[in-house]
Amino acid sequence: MKTKKIPLRKCVGCQERKEKKELIRVLRTPEGEVVLDATGRANGRGAYLCRSGACLQKAIRNKGLARSLEQEIPDNVLEALQREMKSLEDA
Ligand SMILES: [Zn+2]
Repeated sequence: MKTKKIPLRKCVGCQERKEKKELIRVLRTPEGEVVLDATGRANGRGAYLCRSGACLQKAIRNKGLARSLEQEIPDNVLEALQREMKSLEDA
């Protein structure tokens, strides 16, 4: 049986490498908006995070998120991301 190569992506919060499907993509749209991309298919620059509010917090604190997206992220957007992540965590 052939082993399929699984693409790994690094969480910008805890820096762990995981399968793409275990991570959530944070996307910077061509319009410069920062959103959670639940489908993982939208166009734009992306960063990956575990499905975890703690990792989102870390990524904000260590600036990993802003660095990956090459953009400072305004507080109101961060709050929206945290709310959305929380609803995903609870799901
Ligand atoms: Zn993580």
